Amino acid sequence: MNGKKIKRRALRQNDKIHISPTTIFKFSLADEDEKVAIDELYELGVHDPLTGAYNKRYLIERLKEEMSHSKRFEVPLSLVMIDIDHFKKINDTHGHLAGDYVLIKTAELLKSMCRKEDVLARYGGEEFLMILRNTDEEGAALQAERIRKEIASTSIVSEGNEINITISLGVACIQADSECEDYKKFIKEADQSLYQSKKQGRNCTTKASELDHKPI
Ligand code: GH3
Ligand code: MG
Ligand code: MG
Repeated sequence: MNGKKIKRRALRQNDKIHISPTTIFKFSLADEDEKVAIDELYELGVHDPLTGAYNKRYLIERLKEEMSHSKRFEVPLSLVMIDIDHFKKINDTHGHLAGDYVLIKTAELLKSMCRKEDVLARYGGEEFLMILRNTDEEGAALQAERIRKEIASTSIVSEGNEINITISLGVACIQADSECEDYKKFIKEADQSLYQSKKQGRNCTTKASELDHKPI
């Protein structure tokens, strides 16, 4: 501690604990202001600034954790990949700011339809990814369809213009007995389901089990 060998001592502010030649911990009691600033920095680091949904970096870390959890406790885990249909046309017709507003409102609606334990993240420009804990493919597809219908029947009003959007969705699931430990494979599976929904004409949901390949 602070360069001296010790057996036991109460920690004091700014103590330096030398664990090894390359690892030193500094002990510091954060005061209330500092704590608020640290919390704010954390929030900035995990959220997408436009929509307030979680960002991709957080999503990936969380997905790895959820995959370990589902394997350990032998419960299913599902992903729903969501992409706004013909979003480019919304930007072209109503302008980029209206496009931004549509993204904000879409995220709001998606969030309102999530359970507390679900994770909603903005995965890319107009793409969102939801992690559904302890949910099998059938349950995730039901939830996906509920969301799809709600979005399709909701008008977004931006500066007096009514904007109607639809979304396409792709569902993937790892069952309790799945061998899959690769989060990239899992996301790819949801992405392929989404691609199938686009191919089928958009505004629909595809389950990975409907794709013609072996499940992950
Ligand atoms: P599809 O139905 O096949 O998904 O067609 P799409 O037009 O939605 O897809 P595409 O990938 O061609 O276009 C996505 C558009 O989203 C293009 C890009 O300019 C726009 N976009 C991405 N991020 C943002 C953003 O933050 N704000 C706005 N306003 N537009 C964005
Ligand atoms: Mg799109
Ligand atoms: Mg897209």
